[in-house]
Amino acid sequence: MDFSECPSITKCPFFNCLNLPGTANVLKNLYCKLRYEKCHRYQIKQRGAAVPETLWPNGQMAGKEQRR
Ligand code: SF4
Repeated sequence: MDFSECPSITKCPFFNCLNLPGTANVLKNLYCKLRYEKCHRYQIKQRGAAVPETLWPNGQMAGKEQRR
């Protein structure tokens, strides 16, 4: 299987947000750096739809405490 970084990694709000909790780093390694095709944000963007700002790669929406 071929692993590669997401082409959106430099512009993605999820990847570049500095205020995410530690669990976000696990998702960054899992999705952004290895399996970006599985990312919900990436999949929505590929369909040409608007990506919700608080959507995480695993399909969950960030809670209020994660949006600070
Ligand atoms: S969150 Fe998704 S779209 Fe954003 S950089 Fe990671 S894999 Fe790419």
